[in-house]
Amino acid sequence: MHTPTPAQLLQVWERGGDPSAAARALLLLGCSCDDEAVPDELAALPLGRRDARLLELRERLFGSAIEAVASCPQCATAVEATFRCDDLRMPEAGAVAATLEHAAHGVRVQFRLPDSRDLLALEQCGDAEAARGLLLDRCVLAAQCGEQSHDARSLPHELQVQIAQVMAQADPQADLQLAFRCPECGHEWQPLFDVARFLWQELHAWALHMLREVDTLAASYHWAEADILSLSPRRRQAYLELCAP
Ligand SMILES: [Zn+2]
Repeated sequence: MHTPTPAQLLQVWERGGDPSAAARALLLLGCSCDDEAVPDELAALPLGRRDARLLELRERLFGSAIEAVASCPQCATAVEATFRCDDLRMPEAGAVAATLEHAAHGVRVQFRLPDSRDLLALEQCGDAEAARGLLLDRCVLAAQCGEQSHDARSLPHELQVQIAQVMAQADPQADLQLAFRCPECGHEWQPLFDVARFLWQELHAWALHMLREVDTLAASYHWAEADILSLSPRRRQAYLELCAP
């Protein structure tokens, strides 16, 4: 992985006008992963592996401290908490097997972990039920009961839940939960942390800020955008101070 330049980040931000969080995450990875990681390989990364890379990119771009705000589910107090990227990083459990297996209720199921291609496909689903069915269709590779093969959607509900649990255990980084405690009422809860969405919001704020700086310097010095973006942050800041009214 490498740290993208400001010009590359602005390009990603510009291309990410598409509201899909999955598509935006792929753009972010595409600009930071080294050349050998072709787009198809990035899209096929299990979601936890994708999120581990996004977390690494976040640390490179904006540092390790993550300030999160959540509303207390009990008393609606806005609670702030600071986490470090290291706190959010699950230990890698080694290589993820391409195919996982689970057997229960006399059925042996082979499946794979969800990835970005699945998220993109799921965006077309109208509700959570349809999304769950489509994800099963896509990720279950085979379901055998003796000689008879089963349709993924016809698997017993309990077995479907177990498959989801095995998936989560095999790829724990994909379901990242933060630990919050409300200082007002003492309630403790663990909201999910979506690193892809969070990083995109930060990129959006950064891009607007950077464009304002480009605008200020271009108006004062008549430099081209590319030249301003290639200045080091320190030098850019020094010029901004010089031309401040
Ligand atoms: Zn509370």
